[in-house]
Amino acid sequence: MTRIESRKSADIIGQHERFVVPSYGRFALAISRGEGRHVWDVDGRRYLDFGAGIAVSCLGHGHPSLVRAIQDQAPRMLHVSNLYYHELQGELARRLSTEVGPGKMFFCNSGAEANEGLIKLARRFGHDEGRYEIITANGSFHGRTLAGIAATGQEKVKKGFGPAVPGFVHVPFNDIDAVSAAISPSTVAVLVEGIQGEGGIHAATPEFLTALRRLCDEHRLLLLMDGVQCGHFRTGRFQSFQRILEGTPPATPPFLPDAVAMAKSLGGGFPMGAFWVGESHSTRLGPGSHGTTYGGSPIACAAASGVLDAIEQENLAANARAVGGEFLSALDGLVKKYPHLLDSVRGLGLMIGVELKEAIPGMDPSTRPLSLQLVDRLQEAGLLTIPSGGRVVRFLPALNVTSDEIGQALDMIEDVLKRILP
Ligand SMILES: *Cc1c(COP(=O)(O)O)cnc(C)c1O
Repeated sequence: MTRIESRKSADIIGQHERFVVPSYGRFALAISRGEGRHVWDVDGRRYLDFGAGIAVSCLGHGHPSLVRAIQDQAPRMLHVSNLYYHELQGELARRLSTEVGPGKMFFCNSGAEANEGLIKLARRFGHDEGRYEIITANGSFHGRTLAGIAATGQEKVKKGFGPAVPGFVHVPFNDIDAVSAAISPSTVAVLVEGIQGEGGIHAATPEFLTALRRLCDEHRLLLLMDGVQCGHFRTGRFQSFQRILEGTPPATPPFLPDAVAMAKSLGGGFPMGAFWVGESHSTRLGPGSHGTTYGGSPIACAAASGVLDAIEQENLAANARAVGGEFLSALDGLVKKYPHLLDSVRGLGLMIGVELKEAIPGMDPSTRPLSLQLVDRLQEAGLLTIPSGGRVVRFLPALNVTSDEIGQALDMIEDVLKRILP
């Protein structure tokens, strides 16, 4: 980092260093507020936000529908325990499950918890037969709880936290033969992301998903999907599998996973997680079997409903598809123009990753991964992005990002790339 931090940001960073557990690798940026697709640092410098809080702030910052939904609900009631019913939870469950298919919703508070719910659902399902093993993909990410890191197909999240929760097997992503070969008498489920987010923006192929459904049916396995990052209209459809399977011959019965984990964009910044479970397993978690104090609180449900309202009223699914498509092809142009820096670009809708070359002149990967160095430089230029592994820079802008803002981002990216040229 070449940036000289101001006194104000140095003080904030200093407070963190003294009093906050240093479990995060952070960029040198202290943010004070946001509006639309922009955020401002404590010194008043403005950034175009193409990270959106890691695919969370799907309406950008300060969206009136979301702000109003929270403001209207706050004085009525923030929280009611799940000992009782309330209108907002049932109504949100109706709206969300309608987007997926016949089934029911469970509400929690984060993506890791949503995946824990899927894992518990699978274990319940297999319990009486002694089946508990879940197959997941290399490069996957499923959260930081003990079961989440056991499920995650990346060594770096597991290191130093053993013994691991038993019952997880990892196989190469998009490799149906590998899944098939990993099935044992103990197997009860397969858990995959539709598009791997932390693993470098790798989408499941339609062939893989279709074959996976068939394989799971043959072996009576649950097909669990982690839609925490790729879901909530980011790809132009509510869930990424719906987008991925567009254009393939309609299956009978139509393709559906058995359960889907949700979080991130669900509350648009209000912390919330959830999972959908299909009709045939929707009563498997009966009274007393699973729960969380905060799950589906009135304030969280009001926020999530406000997010859905805005997405519907402003046609943001269509926007994600159209603007995301423009962005992807423009980035592809940059890959062709700067082949010594950029290897490739991939993604769907507004979930896009650019893979850097293994070696880039003037950038030393031994001091800091190349992806982080490019993110640093883009930040310097006024654009916030997110690394995904050592060589991929990820773009996850709000679903209401405009063509114009995409153009501004592209200009900043190209400026940065030009300056890397020897
Ligand atoms: C972020 C993420 C999680 C974990 O969500 P948290 O809210 O951080 O617990 C799980 N799965 C995927 C795919 C994610 O991107």
